[in-house]
Amino acid sequence: AKGVDEPELSHPGRTDDGHPVKLLANVGSVKNVPAADQAHAEGIGLFRTELLFLDRTTEPSRDEQVVAYREVFQAMAGRRVVIRTLDAGADKPLPFLHQDGEPNPALGVRGLRVARQRPEVLTTQLAAIAEAAADSGADVWVMAPMVSTLAEATSFADAVHEAGLPRAGVMIEVPAAALRAADLLGVVDFLSIGTNDLSQYTFAADRMCGELAELLDFWQPALLQLIGICGEAGRATGKPVGVCGEAAADPALAPVLAGLGVSSLSMSPRALSGVRASLARYSYAECRRLAELAVAAPDAATARKIVLS
Ligand code: PEP
Ligand code: MG
Repeated sequence: AKGVDEPELSHPGRTDDGHPVKLLANVGSVKNVPAADQAHAEGIGLFRTELLFLDRTTEPSRDEQVVAYREVFQAMAGRRVVIRTLDAGADKPLPFLHQDGEPNPALGVRGLRVARQRPEVLTTQLAAIAEAAADSGADVWVMAPMVSTLAEATSFADAVHEAGLPRAGVMIEVPAAALRAADLLGVVDFLSIGTNDLSQYTFAADRMCGELAELLDFWQPALLQLIGICGEAGRATGKPVGVCGEAAADPALAPVLAGLGVSSLSMSPRALSGVRASLARYSYAECRRLAELAVAAPDAATARKIVLS
């Protein structure tokens, strides 16, 4: 690894020898777009749409949704915006869905699973996204949270295309989905790995439980191995595979993720410059070697040490 030439702040993400890794921002509303711009985000890799639905006993109307989504799309004209459909349930309970009776919400009806009971919530949201995307100038991609099976990915992709939106993807947050990444890429255009939930479900450790931080460490080799399965599927198909969970914000982990085949990293805007600088210190061959070593490490601390030494 080299340490001298810091990349220009406005450079697109890439390794020292020019292998591109798109550096994107996570936002929750148009209020976060200026910070993404100042940090020279190449686009939005995760637009969380829960904000509009929080603290409400009724679903926001389609028109209300159009306004909120259009603000972000127009502000990002000419760039990519990956918008995520509603991720309700578990750590993001939404009053209008009345889900209080679940004994185990993290394993219950959350994310895309809500569409089993309330399909109209998803179709209304997709219609609003399509209307907001039209003439906005942004390159709008749509993805679903909490997808576990090929059947779920297929029905989501169908719904996205029926709404007139060209690019459908799924988040990888459940180990079953990571193991089947290649199959999923047969029916969707891209994958985005949500490492917060993927580590929670891989290690059976509540993401809100500070006491289990060691299990939730993003350097856990088992988590990296699952990410690698997705990255390989991306390489084999030529389709984008990104990371949009907190792991994407760790500068030291960036070369490992790139080496595992991840083609974009989406994070809080304030993390972008550190990740950009870190990536630029490694060749792509070094990234691949570090990825191999990190996956083979016996534990998270050793994996981290290999890269930081
Ligand atoms: C994740 O799970 O990593 C993710 C990006 O989604 P959220 O944190 O909103 O659940
Ligand atoms: Mg998640």
